[in-house]
Amino acid sequence: MSTPSDKTTFIPLSEPLIDGREWEYVKECLDTGWVSSAGRFVDRFEAELAKRLGVAGAVATASGTAALHVALLLAGVGSADEVLVPSLTFIATANAVRYCGAWPVFMDAEASHFQVDLDKVANFLEHECQWSRGQLRNRSSGRRVAAIVPVHLLGHPVDMDQLLALTAKYGLAVVEDATQGLGSLYKQRPVGSLGSLACLSFNGNKLLTTGGGGMIVGNDEQLLARGRYLTTQARDDAAEYIHRSVGYNYRLSNLAAAIGCAQLERLDDFLAAKRALAANYAHALRGLPGLVLPTQAAWAQSAWWLYTVLVEEKEFGLSSRELRGRLKEAGIESRTFYQPLHLSPAHAGSQAYHCEVAERIWSQGLSLPSSVGLQPEDQNRVTEVIRDAAR
Ligand SMILES: *Cc1c(COP(=O)(O)O)cnc(C)c1O
Repeated sequence: MSTPSDKTTFIPLSEPLIDGREWEYVKECLDTGWVSSAGRFVDRFEAELAKRLGVAGAVATASGTAALHVALLLAGVGSADEVLVPSLTFIATANAVRYCGAWPVFMDAEASHFQVDLDKVANFLEHECQWSRGQLRNRSSGRRVAAIVPVHLLGHPVDMDQLLALTAKYGLAVVEDATQGLGSLYKQRPVGSLGSLACLSFNGNKLLTTGGGGMIVGNDEQLLARGRYLTTQARDDAAEYIHRSVGYNYRLSNLAAAIGCAQLERLDDFLAAKRALAANYAHALRGLPGLVLPTQAAWAQSAWWLYTVLVEEKEFGLSSRELRGRLKEAGIESRTFYQPLHLSPAHAGSQAYHCEVAERIWSQGLSLPSSVGLQPEDQNRVTEVIRDAAR
């Protein structure tokens, strides 16, 4: 838990805040013996999150990555299909595509909010794909293009109306990667309720944590039932252990869900804290030459998961890496962007479509400490180091 610190206390990028009823709920699990993948907290966590997002149902999973894997399967992504994935995202998004035997095709980011560039996606679909026997195929690979995964990067929503118009036109499934976007709104509607299916993560550095965990949410009850089946070893007959498919052991434990229920009670406070952090950063850092502060689109209410600036080396006087070094010397953790996935050795075999903006954001981007419990004195320490570095 965060307490005001002196000049030497380490300030992490993002740490969980555990100050609600977590202990009480976990104790209930331990006292009653309901610690594994069945139990009232799993059901409650699913029901409460679905209600919060305004969707029909949810399936809790062992991680956000597991949620993405199964959601893509539910969306009909099969082996040798292709899925459009932003190059600028955490690698788990693309790995989940490979787990299905399918291939990511990497799309660029737009410069204003770092989300997937939908104009480039439109160009790709129009000029690089063609219809063949009722299926949309990538001209260069000959593979079926089955789906797109919009990632609400850093908590800012993707322009979903523009995206959904494209996916309707080209018949693509939409699996939202809302792992960084829980609590953000697109035109007043919650992110995670806008595609056919969406995935959440409750890893330690996400807005809510269960230690580790994830969730698939959506409106199609049949699909969700299939998701529950696949994440529970595809058990058709529990007494006789008959399985008609190869399933996965991907369920969330009741212990983890107990933490999640307590965290969820704090969601609005956490979001308010993130908004306040963003407003403080915007106030304290404005006007520094070469430091580009993040903004929200007119239709967006960001969850401000990680407050991320661009450092323009010539004007600022330091590169993003050098500024990261200055912060580190002062005991402050910051983080440059993920390596764009079209450059990732792990995905060397995949196609990319003009991802130059993603490369620039990668070289300039720097995420600043954004813990929900970050104290004002500590945030001042961060902004002072940056203001000093700028001089
Ligand atoms: C965190 C994250 C994931 C994976 O979630 P885990 O719970 O860590 O498996 C996937 N996509 C993005 C964009 C993430 O930030």
